[in-house]
Amino acid sequence: MKKIIIALIIIIMTSSSVLAETVVYNPNSKIYHKIYCHSAKICKVCIKIDKQEAIRRGGRACKRCGG
Ligand SMILES: [Zn+2]
Repeated sequence: MKKIIIALIIIIMTSSSVLAETVVYNPNSKIYHKIYCHSAKICKVCIKIDKQEAIRRGGRACKRCGG
């Protein structure tokens, strides 16, 4: 039984780390970019946050990089 619980914890931890993706979010335009996106690199007001958090703030994916 203990082994099953440990296995479940490992599955939860690994799956959540896959979901947690950092994006570069522009709070003015409400558009989020991938870190390597050109628009993200030249953006001065952008902040690095979790993709889920960017979506929660009403963010939309960048048309160039797809967010
Ligand atoms: Zn972009």
